[in-house]
Amino acid sequence: MKKVVIIGGSFGGLTAAFELRRHLGRRAEITLVSETADFAFAPSFPWVALGLRKPQDITVGLDKLLSRKGIKFLQATVQKLDPGKQEVDLGNSSLSYDYIVIATGAHLDFEAIPGLGPEKGYTHSIMTLEHAVQTNQAWQQYLETGGPIVIGSTQGVSCFGPAYEFIFGAEHALWKLGLREKASLTFVTSEPYISHFGLGGFRQAGRVIEDEFAEKDINVFTNAVVKEIQPERVILGDGTELPFEFSLFVPPFRGVDVVINSGLGNPKGFIAVDDYYRHKSYPNIYVTGVAVAVAPKEATPVPTGVPKTGFMTEHMSKVVARNLAADILGREAQALPLRKLDVICIADLGAKAAFMMAKPALPPRQKTYLKKGRWAHWLKIIFERYFLFKLKRGAMNLP
Ligand SMILES: Cc1cc2nc3c(=O)[nH]c(=O)nc-3n(C[C@H](O)[C@H](O)[C@H](O)COP(=O)(O)OP(=O)(O)OC[C@H]3O[C@@H](n4cnc5c(N)ncnc54)[C@H](O)[C@@H]3O)c2cc1C
Repeated sequence: MKKVVIIGGSFGGLTAAFELRRHLGRRAEITLVSETADFAFAPSFPWVALGLRKPQDITVGLDKLLSRKGIKFLQATVQKLDPGKQEVDLGNSSLSYDYIVIATGAHLDFEAIPGLGPEKGYTHSIMTLEHAVQTNQAWQQYLETGGPIVIGSTQGVSCFGPAYEFIFGAEHALWKLGLREKASLTFVTSEPYISHFGLGGFRQAGRVIEDEFAEKDINVFTNAVVKEIQPERVILGDGTELPFEFSLFVPPFRGVDVVINSGLGNPKGFIAVDDYYRHKSYPNIYVTGVAVAVAPKEATPVPTGVPKTGFMTEHMSKVVARNLAADILGREAQALPLRKLDVICIADLGAKAAFMMAKPALPPRQKTYLKKGRWAHWLKIIFERYFLFKLKRGAMNLP
């Protein structure tokens, strides 16, 4: 029986695992290795940080979920991946494979900017569940004092949505508590213009979201380089100093150490794939989600990366599973070039949200769509509940 190892227990790895089981039945031994015991629904992290969700509302234990499907789960950190020996090293043990799916996401590169990040710096984060929980504690403390808030995405970011969602969510929370007048809000982004999102923008999105910043009286700095964060001060590349009582920044991404050390990735540690989502030199290595290298369509004045959203990740994983199963079953694989991936996303804006769709994700496009309203905010909440309900029953299904 063929052995398939999947690294990563989030959108990419879980979708690949479920889909592989569906395509292959019991004709392969599938093992999923993940550092964390739980799947955590990242789109709700901004709500955790603002105290609107508890971690237990948005997490699902991987062991129970996978064992019901006959998929083996190992909670471990892959230390080394040897593509020649077809083996992964888990520290105390090793696993051999015939096929491997790399769904390891990214390393959050807080070290790239002095003073950045919750561990060694002065800014908060919502990029992991632990960070979101810590940020909620800091947010509760902030509410007692008020003062300037600086939120943003640094140079090299490829996941812009969370900073938008957090600043609009924070603004709405302050307004609801009657504390808005105690805070000045500033948004800093490496994007060349509002709503570029690393995707070349969504036609009218720039105007729609800019209006939202204006209506909410939030200062905006685009094309911004964050040079350094000092205690209570963000220093931009042009010398601008932004004092803060509370600050949160999305850091640049790079590949995780195991990918960098394996030599499978590009210099940033992301892995280039063919149209079947296989590594170009090792056809038994499949890659999905944030771990995939996607070249930006255009160079921006300040470097930005292309996001690989949950929706895109799920789509990639379905292609990965279909093609990996086809290889085992002696069937024909189907191509899905990266340039043909679509994107659908709901960016929460506090009381409202923006529903966005682009076909394909990177321009030129056949179709783009953006609508803003309270209905989109409710749609995001309904979707969160629906997704977690379905997941607990063993299915990943993003819209
Ligand atoms: C705050 C936030 C909000 C978001 N909002 C949205 C949204 O509204 N809509 C949307 O579509 N997308 C959203 N996204 C993006 C979405 O979460 C990502 O696209 C998705 O998580 C990518 O999945 P992935 O499996 O590729 O990587 P990740 O989710 O990063 O998962 C990687 C997994 O690999 C594991 N791993 C890494 N290295 C190792 C190792 N060496 N050994 C074992 N395990 C390892 C990690 O523990 C993790 O389980 C958001 C992301 C964030 C952070």
